[in-house]
Amino acid sequence: MILIWGTKPTDQKLGFVAEICPECNSVNKVSVHRIGLTGHFFWVPVGRGQFVEAYGTCTSCNKKFSIEITDYETIDKKDNEQIEDLIRITNPKLGHADESLKKNSNVSLQLGNHF
Ligand SMILES: [Zn+2]
Repeated sequence: MILIWGTKPTDQKLGFVAEICPECNSVNKVSVHRIGLTGHFFWVPVGRGQFVEAYGTCTSCNKKFSIEITDYETIDKKDNEQIEDLIRITNPKLGHADESLKKNSNVSLQLGNHF
């Protein structure tokens, strides 16, 4: 009898986060995937597997790019979140970046009025 076992890569969809898509150059809803190496025994997966890497797929343009899961507060399992809520829940840093952008544009606006 031959025992067949080994590891195989598995792609698990974890949920959604708000992230800046390098292709769209804007904050989009990005689906998060986890690549793992899962042991299998006769091709039946055993356990959750060893983490290899994570990547995101932009839900707007389908561009794949690598992400760090640890960059996010949480990964949203629901698919019906508004982008503003998704930013607040998963990636509040982006919200703060938005605010500082607004502040900067206010500054230039004031300068403009002054001259
Ligand atoms: Zn995109």
